[in-house]
Amino acid sequence: MIGRTQHARGILTAALDAVTLVAATAILIAAAERPHPAATRGERNHQADSQRGLTLSDYDPVSMLEVASDVVTKAKVPAVDFHNHINHDEPERLLHVMDACNVAVIVNFTGGFGETLQAQVAKFARHADRFLVFANVNWDGIDEPDFGQQAARQLEADVKAGARGLKIFKNLGLGVKDNTGTLVAIDDRRLDPVWAKAGELDIPVAIHTSDPDAFFLPVDRFNERYEELQAHPDWSFHGAQFPSKATLLEQRNNVIARHPRTTFVALHVANHAENLSEVAAWLDRYPNLYVEIGARLNELGRQPYTARTFFVTYADRILFGVDSRPAESVYHPYFRFLETFDEHFDYFTHPRQGRWKIYGIGLPDEVLEKVYRRNARKLLRLD
Ligand SMILES: [Zn+2]
Repeated sequence: MIGRTQHARGILTAALDAVTLVAATAILIAAAERPHPAATRGERNHQADSQRGLTLSDYDPVSMLEVASDVVTKAKVPAVDFHNHINHDEPERLLHVMDACNVAVIVNFTGGFGETLQAQVAKFARHADRFLVFANVNWDGIDEPDFGQQAARQLEADVKAGARGLKIFKNLGLGVKDNTGTLVAIDDRRLDPVWAKAGELDIPVAIHTSDPDAFFLPVDRFNERYEELQAHPDWSFHGAQFPSKATLLEQRNNVIARHPRTTFVALHVANHAENLSEVAAWLDRYPNLYVEIGARLNELGRQPYTARTFFVTYADRILFGVDSRPAESVYHPYFRFLETFDEHFDYFTHPRQGRWKIYGIGLPDEVLEKVYRRNARKLLRLD
């Protein structure tokens, strides 16, 4: 771990040892004359900015901090990206990124069911050891009297066709309705046969329930995701037409409690990364619960002390995933967060998920080993 500052200091020490004071002075002058990024960024008219004031979206401050800054280009151990959506991607492009980043396996959560699922399996068949696919539920039959049995049979067929798990999207609880126009609750009894079948087949259920806390609050000046919700008004679930976030999480937890022989991976840190002590309590309460970290780097990295304790304590129950189209620029900040103690750097998509920076949690090797691959490989039965 060599930061810019240490590196500069190293050069300076070597210079003093080896050459005259004149040479050292020249190095110092050269360093002082190096233009700062703030001075070189963009073609902006700085004087005009200071006169008229800036809009929030135009504000793009450059940090003056001089602290260690690593680029971690490869995961420390061959990683499993447990949460992605790669249906429309080409295997060759993905393999290039994966090999560059030391990502051994990607799990595609958007497999569909029936023929769609089979087509996804076929598309990646040549690299079946690198790409795994999860099935999804067809909600169209929700009004059929034996919907649960039908969906369970479909899941069994999809697993036979190559699916390695079941992914439930957030529309369960927030969008799926039956013919009475009522939202189907996550813990609706009609779905019990599906959860039971996943347990019987020994496949994990990856479940996305609700969304960040801020998405359930008014989109106003107090909302910490204001810019994101301005850009995507349909991501807001504020209002009487939606169940509360607490209700949705309770429905999900009821299912986890009711099906102890089924393994659930609650995605996005159980969608409650804002409150890791509550997620910890759920992990204590439900031995069949795991969590995954995709798209929550912003939340985890702004609470590095709490997050580090959480990762170390629950190292056996946390899975790596990114939930963003695979690219080196996506993976690098995750590696940096997990592996270094770097301070005050950008999460992927900064500042969209909130105007703050993140801090690394420098996890020990045995924790990285579990989070990056061992937990996922166990659930996916890869060993
Ligand atoms: Zn996703």
